Amino acid sequence: MGSRKPHVAIFPGAGMGHLIPVAELAKRLSGSHGLSLTFITCKWMFSPRLLAAYSENMASSGFDINFIQLPEVEIEGAQHMKPEVCLSKFFEKSKGSVENALRSLVDSASPVSAFITDFFCSTMFDVAAELRIPTYVFFTSAASVLSVLLSLPKIVSEIPISFKDADFPIEVPGTPPIPGRDMPSPLQDRSDEAFYWFQHHSSLLWKVTGFLVNTFEDLEPEAIKALMEGKISKPKDIDRMPSIYPVGPLISSSPLEHNDKLVEDGRADCLKWLDNQPPSSVLFVSFGSGTGLPRAQVTELALGLEASGHRFLWVLRSPSSSFLSIEETELFQLLPEGYQNRTQDQGLVVASWAPQISVLSHPSTGGFLSHCGWNSTLESISYGVPMICWPLFAEQKMNRILLVNEFKVAIAAKMESDEFVRRGEVERTVRELMEEESGMRVRARVRELKEKAVSALEEGGSSYKAMAAAVSEWTANAANSAAT
Ligand code: UDP
Repeated sequence: MGSRKPHVAIFPGAGMGHLIPVAELAKRLSGSHGLSLTFITCKWMFSPRLLAAYSENMASSGFDINFIQLPEVEIEGAQHMKPEVCLSKFFEKSKGSVENALRSLVDSASPVSAFITDFFCSTMFDVAAELRIPTYVFFTSAASVLSVLLSLPKIVSEIPISFKDADFPIEVPGTPPIPGRDMPSPLQDRSDEAFYWFQHHSSLLWKVTGFLVNTFEDLEPEAIKALMEGKISKPKDIDRMPSIYPVGPLISSSPLEHNDKLVEDGRADCLKWLDNQPPSSVLFVSFGSGTGLPRAQVTELALGLEASGHRFLWVLRSPSSSFLSIEETELFQLLPEGYQNRTQDQGLVVASWAPQISVLSHPSTGGFLSHCGWNSTLESISYGVPMICWPLFAEQKMNRILLVNEFKVAIAAKMESDEFVRRGEVERTVRELMEEESGMRVRARVRELKEKAVSALEEGGSSYKAMAAAVSEWTANAANSAAT
């Protein structure tokens, strides 16, 4: 029997929120656990420059990672589709070329012993099964969200109405009760095509061998326990719960200066500005890599931040998704007249993108007004920065419940029934986080969790051990295939 180095193929989900953690997963699997990896990607998934930057970064760091670039696919009318629908269709259309890539790897001198992919790529599960490659999903959201998705077939059979119309909380193993309207946005309306796709992916999730989840035991003990102990009802045709490996928090170790460039040298101006601010005095304001707030909401946020009197660093993004084509001056016109002049001693507004990891790890940063994206959440916890929750879409409202009620690392901005946040509420929450006793409590708690996050990843920590357990499964597969 040969002692072959396991070779694992990764086909990631699309977009920044997926690429950033999966790149980190790849680096750890190669760097700390000695795996050989092949990254299968397609141009439409990421900006070519971003992918080139990541590939170069990985190659120059000496990781054993190769890349296979798949042919382009096109979906008619993609620009009019909801992101979840569009992504699902793109992946479905990429199935044939992923199959070809996997076949070439199976037939290679170093056959793959595991295939790691994304929730949205459920269409690839049977391709890998046919090739007898065990499939693992790298789940880039909370374990609690995974619990919701695995429970979806049962919930749908028991609750006959859309979550948007449910005026009662939804019970899911290992998670706090979730008001219907706080369930992930693609699940809100059963007549919506996005719901169809989520239900489809969720039902197929049961067929994978395991999940690598970007979370850690001390963060989500109940959800992880519920998943590991098989507390979620299995569909009739399934006889085993997939294995669960909480391997997080996997956050970027290479901050992005712009949306498509890694920081290699020099520092962004906003970091130089932060250097000149007092310790823990600045509120970082950012809503992730998606679209920005509408103009009326930008005005309320701007005036609320100003009225709070606290220092802020705000990443302003265009409400249209084509932010890259927008000129900086045009973007700043979204702000109230004279705003930047008036607030020049109080805050800094940057256009479209900031190196978030460097900002959160900067000693001057004392709070984060966040859209509750899961990567942002893990990054904020990893650097001990307390949050104000202002969720927009996807699973962010559910994350708010976790952040405020379970992890106790954040306070919530109250939204009107139309989800609008008024300037007075912005001012109130900023003051609460930065000045009040309740703000101090969440600050102390997030610092506690920061230590636990660090320990989880250290050799011997829960996440390190979980990753090692997955790797030893793949090593056994590699040894078996070498023996046959
Ligand atoms: N990000 C960044 N700078 C920005 C906006 C986002 O570096 O100005 C990074 C952020 O650090 C995180 C990712 O982009 O790693 C956003 O992921 P998240 O899950 O928080 O939100 P999404 O963009 O997927 O909604």
